[in-house]
Order: sequence, then C-alpha cells, then structure tokens
Amino acid sequence: MLAKRLQKTGKVNLGDFSTSDTGGLTKEDGEARFVLLARELEDLQELLYAAGENSLLVVLQGRDTSGKDGTLTAVAGAMNPVGVRVASFKVPTSEELAHDFLWRIHKQTPEKGQVVFFNRSQYEDVLVARVHELVPQSVWERRFDHINRFEEMLSDAGTLIVKLYLHLSESEQEERLLAREEDPEKAWKLNPGDWSERKRWDAYTAAYEDALGRCATPHAPWYIVPSDRKWFRNLAVAESLVTVLEPYRTSWEKKLMKIGENQKAALAKMRQEESAKKPGKG
Ligand code: AMP
Ligand code: MG
Repeated sequence: MLAKRLQKTGKVNLGDFSTSDTGGLTKEDGEARFVLLARELEDLQELLYAAGENSLLVVLQGRDTSGKDGTLTAVAGAMNPVGVRVASFKVPTSEELAHDFLWRIHKQTPEKGQVVFFNRSQYEDVLVARVHELVPQSVWERRFDHINRFEEMLSDAGTLIVKLYLHLSESEQEERLLAREEDPEKAWKLNPGDWSERKRWDAYTAAYEDALGRCATPHAPWYIVPSDRKWFRNLAVAESLVTVLEPYRTSWEKKLMKIGENQKAALAKMRQEESAKKPGKG
C-alpha cells in the first residue's frame, strides 16, 4: 500500500510519516499506473452502483493546499458521475450551528449504490473548532467518541468508509501558497486566511494527530497519504480505494447475477401471461 493505513486507536506522530514518498516510482511510472487503477476503480464503482448493497464514503482532510480539490478532479473524476457526489463543508451556517455538529454531515452521507466524497468533514469540528477555540475543550473532547459511534453506525448500515489525510510538508505548503499568488489561473484560490492558518501549523499538527489517533478504527480507518507530489497523492488515493472495494467484487457480481435472473424470470412470466390472454389458435 502506498498510503499508510491506521485502523486502531493509538498515539500518532505525524513526523513519523513521509510527506514526499514516491514508492520508488518515477512520475511517468506513477502516472501510467494511475491510469490502470482509475479504470479498475470505475469498474468497481459500477458494481457497487448496480448491486446497491453498499455505499462508499470518502473523507478528504488536509491542510490548505494539500490537494483536496486536485484529488477530487483526478479520482472522483475517474468515476461514473451518475453514482458520485461531492459534499463540501464550509464554515457552518447559523442553521447548522443551531443543530448538533453531525446534523449537516449525516444529511450528506451516501445512499446505497452511491459514492460520496467529503471535501472537509465532521473532523473540522475537532480541528478548526479546537485550534480556534470555537468550542471549549470539554465539548470537542467528547466529539471523538461521537464521531466513532456515528461512523460505526454508518458502517453497520453498509457504508464503506475511507478517510484520507493528505499529508503535506510545511515547505511544500509555502511553495504552493506562493504559486497561487504568481499564477493568474490559481489566484482565485488565494485566501489571506491561509497564511494566518499556516502560523498555527503546530496546533493543527497536534489536532490532526489526535483526530487520526483517536478515530482510526477497523470499520473507518485513516489513510495517511504522502501529498507533496501530486501524481503520487492521486496514485496512493486511487490505490487505497481499489484496495477497499476489491474484496467486495465477488459478492457484488453474485448479487448482479441474482438480479439478472430475477429480471429474466419476471420477463418470462410476463410473456407467459400475455400469451395466455391471446385468443387460442384453431
Ligand atoms: P475551503 O475548503 O478552502 O473552501 O474553506 C472552507 C473553510 O471552512 C475552511 O477554513 C474550514 O476550516 C472552514 N470550516 C469547515 N468546517 C468548519 C466547522 N465545522 N467549523 C468552523 N469552520 C469550518
Ligand atoms: Mg481554502
């Protein structure tokens, strides 16, 4: 696996994980492998859609410029749009703030057969909310358990959950922020707030380490994706998704066979009834 999977709670030290791993691949090799994986992903997504037994929730988290949008373009873009949706979570509205923090999240979870990508998520409520002291510690502390139970409930309902942390280095972020200023095509993404968020780098690191460490479970694992190189990030994300979906292939194919047989039987019955209604010959 190109991304590192965490599926048990425990202490996480982000410094132990590379941001610039290439898995020993060149960019060219990586891009060629991505094309193959993207095809496999599309195939698996079609099975998920047709079988209608499970859904897939992909949670994208990461600091500013870590590549959440780029991942969506590359990976969600490789799927059949009929079965895919993106839900982006911004600063909560007053209506959202008047509810519990999972209210707006639950409304966006995927129905059976569907894939939903979360661009930011319930984790903002233990990240930005903690770093900016939007709520007291006594409130955000309890949210780790709330999130774990919520995700367990989604999993019990047939939702496959993949949580991706796009792991970026401090220096790569600086380069990307500067590039946004210089490139007229990227300037629309410029957000002065990103520079002030950057000043809180260590506070975010601590918040991410807790979010990853306390909410890594077998039914909703976190994947730490080295994201300094965009081509590797896309490859690692695609590979993670294929790895999660592939074990279901046989069961979804069986379900499709069954659906097909039922449809054929229904058609045969309909034809029989129609011919019984026709006046008999001779
Ligand atoms: P962007 O993803 O660049 O469009 O920015 C969305 C902004 O909304 C980010 O600054 C997030 O930190 C912020 N945001 C998202 N969810 C929450 C939340 N639950 N509480 C406060 N701010 C949030
Ligand atoms: Mg932003």
